[in-house]
Amino acid sequence: MARRKYVVGNWKMNGLVAALGEAQAIFAAAGTHPSVDVALCPPFTLIGAMVTAAPGAAVGGQDCHAAASGAFTGSVAASMLVDTGASLVIVGHSERREGFGETDADVKAKAEAALAAGLSVILCVGEPREVRESGGAIDYVLAQIAGSLPESFDPARLAIAYEPIWAIGTGLVPTVVDVADMHGAIRTKLREQSGAAATIRILYGGSVNGENAAELLDAGDVDGALVGGASLTAGKFVPIVEAAAALG
Ligand code: PEP
Repeated sequence: MARRKYVVGNWKMNGLVAALGEAQAIFAAAGTHPSVDVALCPPFTLIGAMVTAAPGAAVGGQDCHAAASGAFTGSVAASMLVDTGASLVIVGHSERREGFGETDADVKAKAEAALAAGLSVILCVGEPREVRESGGAIDYVLAQIAGSLPESFDPARLAIAYEPIWAIGTGLVPTVVDVADMHGAIRTKLREQSGAAATIRILYGGSVNGENAAELLDAGDVDGALVGGASLTAGKFVPIVEAAAALG
């Protein structure tokens, strides 16, 4: 089944109002490649302003709380993301799993809350370096999917991002064969667990840039990219979108 390529920028804790011009340039360039879905996930503080600066663009959050409201100082509910104009949210990023102790159950609850609020979800999985080196990466990632995939969902609103932790922000990338093997295993797992495997997009993330994007995006079962550092400027991000567009 042909799935539209999906290229998503995760700005992490970067970006002030002055950076909105980069977002406008990114979305303007993306508009010239209608075969590719492009989204940006800035910090919470910029979502509303980015939606206003780039009307109609797909703008998302980088996390949400699983609860609808309440005494959770510093947290943001999925409905609040919707309220500010977001249409998607990343859940389970390794910087949340590792830095904030989020478990698979937490990630599942967040994904379910986000879907219930009407958001699309990018659910991140990925192994640490020692697991890759010990040969256990596929089992590790499939266990994360078993534990964090929502019970039921619209497959058009869920994407999986495979992000090996050791590749994030390091300049290291797995071989194309390793990426294709992992994505194929994820696709098989999704088929077993949800029956919706053909529709769900599986993104690769970890040091994607304008030079390596074409090769990574062309690997088996890779439907797009989740991009951190190279998503902060149009100059670095647009070539990745162009690489996706060239692959149709
Ligand atoms: C990420 O944080 O999701 C990511 C993939 O980062 P980078 O592209 O900088 O490795």
